[in-house]
Amino acid sequence: MDISKLRNETPGTKNVIHFNNAGAALVSRSTLKAQQSFLNEEAEFGGYETAAKYHDELEEFYVEVAWLIKADPNEIAFAESATVAWQRAFFSIPFRPGDVILTGQSEYASNYISFLVAKEKFGVEIVNIPSTSQGGMDVNELEKNITSRTKLIAMTHIPTNGGLVNPAEEVGKVAKKHDVLYLLDACQSAGQYPLDVNKLHCDFLSATGRKYLRGPRGTAFLYVKKELINNLTPPSLDLHGAEWVETYKYVSEKNARKFETWESSFAAKYGFVNAIKELNQLDISVVWQRVCSLADYLRSELEKLDSITVQDIGEVKSGIVTFSSSSVPTEELKLLLSEKNINTSISKPSGTLLDSKNRNLKSMIRASVHYYNTHQEIDTFVNVLKEAL
Ligand SMILES: *Cc1c(COP(=O)(O)O)cnc(C)c1O
Repeated sequence: MDISKLRNETPGTKNVIHFNNAGAALVSRSTLKAQQSFLNEEAEFGGYETAAKYHDELEEFYVEVAWLIKADPNEIAFAESATVAWQRAFFSIPFRPGDVILTGQSEYASNYISFLVAKEKFGVEIVNIPSTSQGGMDVNELEKNITSRTKLIAMTHIPTNGGLVNPAEEVGKVAKKHDVLYLLDACQSAGQYPLDVNKLHCDFLSATGRKYLRGPRGTAFLYVKKELINNLTPPSLDLHGAEWVETYKYVSEKNARKFETWESSFAAKYGFVNAIKELNQLDISVVWQRVCSLADYLRSELEKLDSITVQDIGEVKSGIVTFSSSSVPTEELKLLLSEKNINTSISKPSGTLLDSKNRNLKSMIRASVHYYNTHQEIDTFVNVLKEAL
């Protein structure tokens, strides 16, 4: 990868050291321009008219996302956020009292809240599979917990903090072997980690646009396995995903657009297409190597600092680095960093409550790197941190 070229095409790299890619990555200039020009045309010529003019380009969304995760374009739906995408999949599952959801120890709060809602509404049970000593989901424990009541395995691939990469492929093998539905939250993995739904054996996969995919805010996608589409009814079904044909009858779409709704930001979607195209022109395994090498370097530099504790777990670690300081409160540290134009974010215990309780974690700084970050930026970051401490 030509990093200096990629940085030149990313306006934000001139202003800030952006280590908040797990929050929202910096968009490229061409993604920004695509979205802006679409907005301009909408204002000047009309929204529906602009959508019609760029119909073919907007359709590329399905092709590009499908290519990224090795799916079929008919298995892809657009959504405005990963949470919306995930919930459309989750709440399309016909849960009955006594059904069991198996999940991990590093689950994202929003997903877990939906498990709790399903517990309230449908009487499902939630079983939290323990982790291995390394930190990821214990796949043997997962398999031991599968019974005839198991309805769903739902797991976060790369959690919002803690560096962990969960063994999503191994979990998929267990799901497939026992014919259990498998919903994978790939929100933080899409864009940094190579994803292949054929190897993951997942039935659903959700991801947001603004994180490692470098898309505009308000974009996301959902993958739904072909064989499932006709058997599921998303809670959001509208006149886009179905047609009202008789007084007491509707007919649903046969592809994953059944999981979309009529309205969305076409300008954002248009920008998102550009971002995924740019990613697909890179080699995702090289992206992953680059992200890992930057994150490993950051961790090793942080570990040299006395009052810093790196809080990352997992046999394989992602571009998300989390740490705490024994001398400066997290909020203060983040502020000191942002005064030097360094963007990080704060991971609160409630974001991944089970993991926080297990490991007695307090608020932490999350410094998440992307391929366009540099070793030099990490050196600056560590120096600023040293001064702050
Ligand atoms: C950010 C995040 C989400 C939610 O994505 P939205 O687009 O904000 O809804 C879901 N899961 C994980 C693991 C995340 O990090």
